[in-house]
Amino acid sequence: MKNFSEKIFRKIALGIEILLMIAMVLTASACESAEEEETVKDRLGQATGIPSIGVGRQRRETADQTGKGFTICIDPGHGFDDAGASSSYVADCDEKDLTLRYATDLKSELEKMGYTIILTHDGSVFPRTSADDGNNKFNPNERSAYANTLDIDYYVSLHCDSFEDESIGGTRIYYCEAAKKVDDYSADVANAIKMQLSKAFPEDGEIKIHNMDPAEAYAVIRETYAAASLIEIGFITNANDAARIQDAEWQEDFVEAVAAGINDYFATLG
Ligand SMILES: [Zn+2]
Repeated sequence: MKNFSEKIFRKIALGIEILLMIAMVLTASACESAEEEETVKDRLGQATGIPSIGVGRQRRETADQTGKGFTICIDPGHGFDDAGASSSYVADCDEKDLTLRYATDLKSELEKMGYTIILTHDGSVFPRTSADDGNNKFNPNERSAYANTLDIDYYVSLHCDSFEDESIGGTRIYYCEAAKKVDDYSADVANAIKMQLSKAFPEDGEIKIHNMDPAEAYAVIRETYAAASLIEIGFITNANDAARIQDAEWQEDFVEAVAAGINDYFATLG
């Protein structure tokens, strides 16, 4: 009897051991996929969890739409190993610092109005896309590739200009009516922003606006499927522009005018 019970006990012990081994193998593979998922999340940053549709959204004109229903992607120009323009008039920072400052502010302003805002990057990490060239610069094609994974109604990229002739200054708005866009209301939004900026800064006269030829257009506005604009806030090589771009009050007025312009367009769809 003793031998028989021992045999049974050994069999049970062996069974438990096998079950434990199976459980360990299963847990290990589960950890691996969780780890893998975590890495993808790190790589994609903000992109994870955002629905990917790959095309710009059609203009929505249903009667119940208000600003609250729209999603806007704001792109702070340059960043990371790409400092953008620099000038002796902005001694403490480069273009990339200024664009991030304005973009972050515009995000808050539009969020206050009820819009959903996605920044292409926050200065600490940028999403790796199918267009990723592996360096630490978030190049324009990568930005558009990222924007094209988002379900957005509008894309706006913020930059500061520079030019050898320091007398040249002022804000400029660019858009590109390119065939890639599903439903192109880029011109309408750009004009609405222009109107508000012209009202906010009458001393500037009429704000310059350009529909760029696709062959020469900035890639971010041409390659992005959603309606898009690129705003050059001003010239940091122009003393007057550089001073006001760095002025907190002017920044507030500028951001409020851009937000009001965007809202002027989308509110008409409400
Ligand atoms: Zn730039």
